[in-house]
Amino acid sequence: MVTAIHSAEVQWNEQGLPIAQQFDDVYFSNQDGLAETRYVFLAQNQLPMRWQAHLLTTFVIAESGFGSGLNFLASWHCYNQLAPHLRPNVLHFISFEKYPLQKSDLAQTLRHWPELARYAEQLIAHYPSTFSEGCQRLTFEGGQIILDLWLGDIHESLKQLPQSDQGLVDCWFLDGFAPSKNPQMWSQPLFNAMARLSRNDATFATFTAAGFVRRGLIEAGFHVKKVAGFGRKREMLCGVRSAHHPIPTAAPWFQRPYPQTCEQVGIIGAGIAGASISLALAKRGIAHRLFDQATGPAQGASGNRQGAIYPLLHPEQTALSEFFISAFHYNRQTILQLLDQGYPIRHQFCGVMQLGYNERSCKRIAKITKMGWPNDLATPVDAQTASIQLGLPVEHGGLYYPQAGWACPHDLVNAMLNFAQQQGAADICYQHTLSHWQAQSDGTIKLEFIDKPPQYVKQLILCNGPDVTNFTLAAALPITPVRGQVTHLATNHQLTQLQHVLCYAGYLTPANAGSHCIGATHQRENRDCQLYSDDTQANFAALRQCIKQSWTDKLNTDDSIGRASVRATVRDHLPLMGPLPDLDLLFKDYSLHQAALQQTAPKLPLHQNVYVLAGLGARGVTSAPLLGELIAAELTAAPSPVSQSVLDALHPARFWVRRLLRGQPVLPP
Ligand code: SAM
Repeated sequence: MVTAIHSAEVQWNEQGLPIAQQFDDVYFSNQDGLAETRYVFLAQNQLPMRWQAHLLTTFVIAESGFGSGLNFLASWHCYNQLAPHLRPNVLHFISFEKYPLQKSDLAQTLRHWPELARYAEQLIAHYPSTFSEGCQRLTFEGGQIILDLWLGDIHESLKQLPQSDQGLVDCWFLDGFAPSKNPQMWSQPLFNAMARLSRNDATFATFTAAGFVRRGLIEAGFHVKKVAGFGRKREMLCGVRSAHHPIPTAAPWFQRPYPQTCEQVGIIGAGIAGASISLALAKRGIAHRLFDQATGPAQGASGNRQGAIYPLLHPEQTALSEFFISAFHYNRQTILQLLDQGYPIRHQFCGVMQLGYNERSCKRIAKITKMGWPNDLATPVDAQTASIQLGLPVEHGGLYYPQAGWACPHDLVNAMLNFAQQQGAADICYQHTLSHWQAQSDGTIKLEFIDKPPQYVKQLILCNGPDVTNFTLAAALPITPVRGQVTHLATNHQLTQLQHVLCYAGYLTPANAGSHCIGATHQRENRDCQLYSDDTQANFAALRQCIKQSWTDKLNTDDSIGRASVRATVRDHLPLMGPLPDLDLLFKDYSLHQAALQQTAPKLPLHQNVYVLAGLGARGVTSAPLLGELIAAELTAAPSPVSQSVLDALHPARFWVRRLLRGQPVLPP
């Protein structure tokens, strides 16, 4: 069951300010909320002064209770007042919220601060209209401002927040209604988690001076002092967490290296995975070089005309659903922001209808429906409603995703790469086929190309889809090449009625420039990219078999119209994202620790500074932008927008680790 997220129930006081019914308390001071924020949270955490001295790329603020986002907007405004050399590259704001305000209530509240209007407008534009547990990442100012909104109870979210052994948070805004009104939140586990997640010399500030809060923070390891409070409040608390040894969230076998510096990055592959990393690095001002064997971008499976964008919900695998929901929201935002910045991407957020088409798929959809997803995310529909909405008759109902749609993956790749190049961050080298790489004694990695001079990088990311297993050191990765042929079909008077992307055993897109895509065949271990008329007929047959209606009857096209490519797939439908495991050592030595696999086990052996992002399957058009953010977060030791369970579920070594944990042997394939 999905834990339901209830929105805040709000009443408005005579000054037009919101009062939370669940807590019977105001969101901020009736006197002057913005002045209070600036005094309590910014000034007492010594912001913006500390930003000038901050050595890392990213400064991280974490807040207990997002509420109206006033603290976030005030921080963003403050950051923008400074010249770029007086502030870190990225201001990263993590906020936790159990009862998010509805978008309309948020907008009404933020009208009180005309000074923040320019920021509030952007927040409202991308603020979620549907709430489900987990993190939604919003980025602003071309990526310099990042907001990770963790929906759910803060105690649960904090347990799942991934952190390295360097800590994560530089500064805490301890907000969250009066302690007397919300004792469940103001408790020792919260103070302990704050201490655990702090970087050295992290500070905190809170409006309250309650004795148990002061004692709890001291017990957790903070140095606490009382200072004058804001307005009529006599006192408040602030303090610092000095030197300590943060404990990483991940178990040793799922640990990720989180390097100290990220520069001279080499990316292999200019498909949707490589382009998404390029975009994420460019947003952080990190220079990188992209290499591809082809003469242009998106020549493999990322080159299709139309790809469906919708969350993959699963009746059992919660990590999979959580990942795809976050990825889906981040994808929409990425496309809309790139469009805003003038990068064209053909797309339509016209809704996706996932049909039941046989007993098995209907049962599966019924199971997913029972989990209770918010209707804005996925609404169950019967056959009649589905037919009316689609504009074409179908005999089964299914799940309708109202915010979903399709985009042209080729355009998306181009847009991401053009952005990265125009930021001056990406240098793209086509006709570069990597033959192998070699770690050098000075810590760099030498890249050897066929018929091209070698290049040196400090970090290498392999994103070349099914070809990733061509490299000896990556040959055992569990990636299967799957040939897929898509058919392009000219629209007709009936098909032109189709209003949503229709997903069944295959998919059919609404017309774009008079043409639909019907896809796709699925041939494992087949790398042939020729077009075959049998496959065109197979695409039509799949449609007719799933939807037995007259409009599917007489479809026809010239056999040569379509596109065939090879997708890289992983059997659990999640990509491989993260450090490249040293499989020789894993098979030989690490498995010796099997009997003692516990928190004290040594870390998993890895190839230093080599990463992989591959196996995006047919879903890269939805998942890639968030995966780019995940790799960038990992390379800069910055906060990750997914939970530790999701990171573990994406780990490139997960299949072998799971075998070890089950006490089964691990052997080279
Ligand atoms: N910082 C906010 C702002 O800038 O508008 C005001 C925060 S308001 C005083 C407190 C917020 O904490 C509310 O939105 C409330 O729903 C949230 N909250 C309370 N208890 C929580 C919990 N256990 N987990 C997560 N959020 C919680």
